Amino acid sequence: MTSNAHSRRPRVGILGGGPGGYEAALVAAQLGADVTVVEDEGLGGSAVLTDVVPSKTLIATAEAMTAVAGSTELGLRFPGGPGPDTEASGSVGVDLGRVNHRVKALARAQSDDIRTRLEKEGVRLLSGRGRLDGPQGLQVVSGEDAGAHVDVDTVLVSVGSSPRTLPAAQPDGERILTWKQLYDLDSLPERMIVVGSGVTGAEFAGAYNALGADVVLVSSRDRVLPGEDADAAEVLEDVFRRRGMTVMSRSRAQAAERHGDTVTVTLADGRTVEGSHCLIAVGAIPNTADIGLAEAGVDVADSGHVSVDRVSRTSARGVYAAGDCTGVFPLASVAAMQGRIAMWHSLGDAVNPLALRSVSSNIFTSPEIATVGWTQAQIDSGEAQGQIVKLPLSTNARAKMLGIHDGFVKLFCRTGSGTVIGGVIVAPRASELIFPLTLAVEKRLNVDDVAHAFTVYPSLSGSLAEAARQLHVMG
Ligand SMILES: Cc1cc2nc3c(=O)[nH]c(=O)nc-3n(C[C@H](O)[C@H](O)[C@H](O)COP(=O)(O)OP(=O)(O)OC[C@H]3O[C@@H](n4cnc5c(N)ncnc54)[C@H](O)[C@@H]3O)c2cc1C
Repeated sequence: MTSNAHSRRPRVGILGGGPGGYEAALVAAQLGADVTVVEDEGLGGSAVLTDVVPSKTLIATAEAMTAVAGSTELGLRFPGGPGPDTEASGSVGVDLGRVNHRVKALARAQSDDIRTRLEKEGVRLLSGRGRLDGPQGLQVVSGEDAGAHVDVDTVLVSVGSSPRTLPAAQPDGERILTWKQLYDLDSLPERMIVVGSGVTGAEFAGAYNALGADVVLVSSRDRVLPGEDADAAEVLEDVFRRRGMTVMSRSRAQAAERHGDTVTVTLADGRTVEGSHCLIAVGAIPNTADIGLAEAGVDVADSGHVSVDRVSRTSARGVYAAGDCTGVFPLASVAAMQGRIAMWHSLGDAVNPLALRSVSSNIFTSPEIATVGWTQAQIDSGEAQGQIVKLPLSTNARAKMLGIHDGFVKLFCRTGSGTVIGGVIVAPRASELIFPLTLAVEKRLNVDDVAHAFTVYPSLSGSLAEAARQLHVMG
């Protein structure tokens, strides 16, 4: 190698500026690389512009509505409503146009913040659709910077995924919608049919129900949230029904057709459901077609996902991949970690392979469902050796004061050693409550370590310590 080659900054090209891509760019810039990001839609990616940030902002308004609806129990009265003991829901309404205006403004501002940060760190930003030009090149094929080409030493593919649709239920952006098209609605749908009861379907069904829409949730499975903790799914389905949502289980949607202001969803067994709008939330497909992966020697699974190892390497030397396009764990936090790991690895910094053991995730329904570590299904099947304690929140003093009736904490520890291996929390703000359990799983704390730490009295987290106490094994 010449001395010139020694001193040249390593060049990194990143395709896709979502959490997988922009977090990688920050690490690469920090490590002294010459970094270029090619982004099609806007920095922050789908996470910021159409998925995480907009959905959680909409849900913040839905949460406020849920809190208001539950506040009569705490003694609040709403003079505008129909009677002295008026239900709050009779007197409070939502202006969806304003809500969506706020949602979009917030997402744009967040995207701008990310752009500013990347520019400040000296990252070159190219706007447009890009593709790999072999394993050591990126080219922009359309958009503002069409025609641009960069030679690089390392490529990171972080192109994300897009909503899957059904052949006979094509979104029109007005009445039949993907989750990316919801924010152009300027008034509350009268009757929203949500097709798909996974995390996305459940979150939007819950949100629109709380905002005051009549919601029908069409689920092909026995219960909502297939694959999630069964007790948590049961609580949520019960809450949904109590709040007036129609939950149709074992009902596979086959088609959605619009006639004027009406959408008709046809189920596989021939039944039909009518509504004013329909949200199709039946999963996502990776954006990996036509971006030069095969030509660069990158293996892609039949599902379209890029195959990666635990340091984000693909089958092609120097090409890494991160985020939803890898199908490892469709979470912004995991995408970001995969992207950082790719850069630490390729630029020669210290790196730990991706550990999914302590990934915490949350379903932003009301109540929220947060999980970490091993699942009860894995323990029940014998895949993991564990003890389980489940405590309903209805016995927690703070929950009673707050008028919380639904939810529980569940803690899993390794049989014998008592090491905390996972847990589930179903509660308002479970996303915030899960962190001590994540720390316990990550640091392999024992149930006694958790039990001996002070919790505030009264607090919901008191139930976590109580669950840990109940798992104590006499020494
Ligand atoms: C409704 C919804 C809510 C969600 N809520 C949460 C949540 O609360 N918490 C959480 O952790 N996760 C959540 N997720 C998942 C999260 O959005 C994804 O895991 C995350 O966006 C993945 O990041 P990424 O970088 O892989 O891809 P993305 O965020 O999708 O970014 C990829 C970017 O690449 C760009 N791109 C694609 N192809 C090209 C190309 N050829 N050239 C140039 N640019 C290209 C795209 O335009 C996009 O901007 C949610 C998902 C959905 C659908």
